[in-house]
Amino acid sequence: PTKNTNKNLTPKQIFIDNHLQDIPNAVWISATGKTYETYKQKIQLPATEWENPLLEYCSERLQNLYFTDRRDGKKRRSIALTSSRGCPLACSFCAIVAADKDGPKWRAVDATTLVNWIVEAHKQYSFEHIYMMDANFFVRKDRVLEFSEKLYKLFGGEITWSSSSTVGYLLKLRTELPKLVTQGLRLVEMGIESGSQTQLDYMNKRVTVKNNIDAIRALQINGIDVGLDFIMFYHDQQKREIIENLSFLLNSGMTEHESFDHYFNIMMIYPGTPVRDNLERKMGIKFNLIDLPNSRQLIENQEVKEIYDAYIDYFAKPLLNSLENAISINIEKISQSTSPREIAHLSLLNIYLRHMPFKILWGLCQRTGERTVIFTGKEFQHTPLS
Ligand code: SF4
Repeated sequence: PTKNTNKNLTPKQIFIDNHLQDIPNAVWISATGKTYETYKQKIQLPATEWENPLLEYCSERLQNLYFTDRRDGKKRRSIALTSSRGCPLACSFCAIVAADKDGPKWRAVDATTLVNWIVEAHKQYSFEHIYMMDANFFVRKDRVLEFSEKLYKLFGGEITWSSSSTVGYLLKLRTELPKLVTQGLRLVEMGIESGSQTQLDYMNKRVTVKNNIDAIRALQINGIDVGLDFIMFYHDQQKREIIENLSFLLNSGMTEHESFDHYFNIMMIYPGTPVRDNLERKMGIKFNLIDLPNSRQLIENQEVKEIYDAYIDYFAKPLLNSLENAISINIEKISQSTSPREIAHLSLLNIYLRHMPFKILWGLCQRTGERTVIFTGKEFQHTPLS
């Protein structure tokens, strides 16, 4: 029963307004900006009781979501949803480890429910691609295969999908990848994180560098786009590990990857993670729970610190935008050009430009002594064909 008779409110809003205090573990910010919390209880809603997250799709940003399908050469109108919570792994830097410490680590709706959600949403919205935003969608092989097959049977391949996976789970599905592609799989975001074995061990990734290369190659061979989660820098790092990261990118054929994010990522020190606990013990301090320390200031090794500072301050900050703009301008020109010679020239130029962050970081790692500006950005400018 509800006291609120405002006709403009949905039943759910009325319910929330009147009964929010009764919901355990709820946190919200009121219209005046005040933060509220309800009472705490060790409880997790079982996956069988989850509601279809696609049915109240209010975010304008998400309604304008697209996926570029290189395989079919089209832009697909998309939706995004999460079908599982948590992760069975326990990477030392990951906040999921802290979030799930009191409950089951990984829980998910079954494949039939998931497909039913999509069918229900498809009656309301038009979309041709689904972004599965789960932290680790490939955890259960049978669930992935059942989902993919059911989706394909219902939509005949008109709806494609992308998801995330860690290396071990992806490799267990390696032989099934051709079938998954036929049924609509287009991209897998891989939690690779590093190409250095000591860095992988520090992160508790429980894989080898070779496993990482095999997983990326398996996607490439099957024409599945790779999303790369990668932590190039961390506070406890040696220069050798940066070089190993770069060598890995070379050996796994990722030097022409579209995005540059992986060249600049530094490990975040999230509350409740083993990495943060270790650091606190080592430094003899306790970070405030709501503070995210500046990872850059925590780099211990002087040489790594110099490399990182030079890379970020003399390359990324002043020049990365120009580099990305130059690549976009070339792509635009390629799409408009009718001259095979110009297309070839610009395509090669873009490969050269895409290698730039790699070359700069590699160069910084080879240098000894003062690391100052080693690059001017002149190389980004397009020189017309003579
Ligand atoms: S695999 Fe990904 S989601 Fe799972 S613990 Fe590691 S970083 Fe977190």
